Amino acid sequence: MDDAKEFVQVAIPIPLRKTFDYAVPEVLRGRIEVGSRVRVPFSRREVEGYCVGFVPESEYDKVRDILDVIDEVPMLDAELLELTKWMSDYYFCSWGEALDAVLPTAVREGTQTRKVRLAKLKIPLDDVDKVISEIEAKAPKQAKVLAIIAENDGTMTASRIAKAVGCTPSVVRSLEKAGRIVFLEEKAILDPLLDLPVDKVSRFEPNDEQAVALKRVRERLAENTFGVILLHGVTSSGKTEIYLQAIAGVVAAGKQAIVLVPEISLTPQTIRRFRARFDRVAVMHSRMSKGETHEQWRQIRSGEAQIVLGVRSAVFAPTKNLGLIVVDEEHENTFKQDVTPRYHTRDVAVVRAHRSDALVLLGSATPSLESYRNAMTGKYELVRLTKRIEDRPLPVVHVVDMRGEHHAQKRFAHFSRDLLEELRRTIARGEQAILFLNRRGFATTVSCRKCGLVLECVRCGIAMTYHKSRHVAVCHQCGARLTPPDACPDCQTPDLRFTGAGTEKIEEYLGKLVPEANVARMDTDTMTKRGSYRETLDRFRSGEVNVLLGTQMIAKGLDYPNVTLVGIISADTALHLQDFRASERTFQLISQVSGRAGRGVRPGAVIVQTHKPGHYCIECAARHDYEKFADVELEHRRALGYPPFSRVARIVVRGLQRNKVIQKANQIAAKLRESGLLGQRQLLGPAQAPIERVKERARWHMLVKAPESRTLRAILSHAEEEMKSSGGVYVTVDVDPMSML
Ligand code: ADP
Ligand code: ZN
Repeated sequence: MDDAKEFVQVAIPIPLRKTFDYAVPEVLRGRIEVGSRVRVPFSRREVEGYCVGFVPESEYDKVRDILDVIDEVPMLDAELLELTKWMSDYYFCSWGEALDAVLPTAVREGTQTRKVRLAKLKIPLDDVDKVISEIEAKAPKQAKVLAIIAENDGTMTASRIAKAVGCTPSVVRSLEKAGRIVFLEEKAILDPLLDLPVDKVSRFEPNDEQAVALKRVRERLAENTFGVILLHGVTSSGKTEIYLQAIAGVVAAGKQAIVLVPEISLTPQTIRRFRARFDRVAVMHSRMSKGETHEQWRQIRSGEAQIVLGVRSAVFAPTKNLGLIVVDEEHENTFKQDVTPRYHTRDVAVVRAHRSDALVLLGSATPSLESYRNAMTGKYELVRLTKRIEDRPLPVVHVVDMRGEHHAQKRFAHFSRDLLEELRRTIARGEQAILFLNRRGFATTVSCRKCGLVLECVRCGIAMTYHKSRHVAVCHQCGARLTPPDACPDCQTPDLRFTGAGTEKIEEYLGKLVPEANVARMDTDTMTKRGSYRETLDRFRSGEVNVLLGTQMIAKGLDYPNVTLVGIISADTALHLQDFRASERTFQLISQVSGRAGRGVRPGAVIVQTHKPGHYCIECAARHDYEKFADVELEHRRALGYPPFSRVARIVVRGLQRNKVIQKANQIAAKLRESGLLGQRQLLGPAQAPIERVKERARWHMLVKAPESRTLRAILSHAEEEMKSSGGVYVTVDVDPMSML
């Protein structure tokens, strides 16, 4: 017996940033490995944890015993264990919380509940009678079991057989040991989407720019060492083709590749594109059933899958021999996880690749300023694609000053005259248009014309959005809903007005102003049924629908050659946010949405409606000038000490009792200052968060800035004790936050 293995360190998924020692009882010795999940007593509960190490002795006096081992073959290898350890340090969460993010729930539960293993004959059916007569005298029960299995080959579990025969399951297992039967796992039933037959498509002959880019990617891959390439390519410049051809090389070398895309881009169209080139593509997305997830995970782990295509958590795919990680649309903020552990998929990808000597390919038409600056300082290699495929021109972007429109039309205008005219012309030519507005619902405010009262959510204190088709006012923050009253609840005047426009109102106006348009609306209100997304896009592709109106759901990925007009109803929705990334978001949004126009042979036009036509982010986006935008924006960031010139953590404190929340926020701030590591203007706040309340809970926040991440961690560590949630006040720490709300 290995004495050195008497105590294990267990990481438990609770917000306490330490590991716990447990003793290994005699019966479990030799059955636990680093990476195994174990069941342990914790205060008065039983919890699951992860064995992360062994110690010869524990420094604690009272060490409790491990209760059981959940998987004897560890689910996590050393690489993922180290990665999660890094996550817990960097993102200021516990190791157990990070580990929980790595294993899909389906896989975690699967090993416990899905023990559907079916008994199947290993000897030929013709030999069964002979074997039965041989063993009948010495082992009558085994003989009976064998007879039953022969009759019900491959359909019964050990326990059912044992019940039928009236023996213990060990009798069934002894037949397995003797090599007469085997247990096979029941195959998970796969999503029809995953099994779609796809026609194989051969690769494109790369154009000049693509060839140069590919050459660099291949050279770096051949080095078999860590590196990051930032592929900055305008929309429709053929970035995906580069990923596909780079992956082909990786697969040919016997390695695996992970491709990470934003949730919104993981469409059947995208899956088909990869399946058309490669045989064994595993897909990981959040809408898959547990059985599907489990099966995909198994295929990755066994090395059967060559490529993993997925969203955020696919960065933890248990590949055996990782060669390349592609992060498409690397600037997308949905790559940031918004619950603990609050990791950024792109950054985890870079760290993981670093540990595995793999290459990272970050692709974007509008790189995040963090990545762009890393390319400027030489940390990443920059590769550019400046032209669209087949030299198709980038669309002409026309900015309309809506202030002038309200004046000229003598009312608040949702549509400029230019947009209406272009829309009519596009339809007349038999072409299609995409209209974008990042607000759903009908009216963004319901107010009283007489006293000015605004209908607000009682729990959150924000204006409720009116949804006309369902005649209901909804709080888009907490989901609360109510039927709007006929008269003002305050002054009883029966004259309520519905101002501000969401997609629903735009759709209604469109029906009146451009009756020849056949409009389909895509937002979370209309896309409620499974399959409705695909169905709507099919109708658009076929031409039955000629105007697609939607929220960010349609901002990216869509590639329809007949779309020649894109209209942005309001470019200002993101500009007003109280966030240092507001300009960057607006620039990205305009670029992405414009990218939907003119992808076919006919050139495209874009109309951007705004109240701030002179803002540099709008001007630069209209000229497709990313470099200029980045220069100006980086100067602002440098002057104010925001990322990428610093590291930032956001601390949010929330709770029902406002005074307690404020008190806690102040305590944390005092402690952070006490660290002595905070220079001037490096602690912003505490202050009320822009979203002041959610579900009656008051929210306060503060922002900590530090020149580098090590200092940031040291500052945070100093206030670790204060940042624990207690007494109904909850604290969250968000390192590298993407949202300031
Ligand atoms: P991006 O990812 O940069 O937006 P895509 O990779 O989607 O661009 O390419 C845009 C379109 O051009 C796609 O329909 C793609 O199949 C096609 N394409 C890509 N590379 C080539 C090429 N070398 N020759 C012809 N067509 C290409
Ligand atoms: Zn609410």
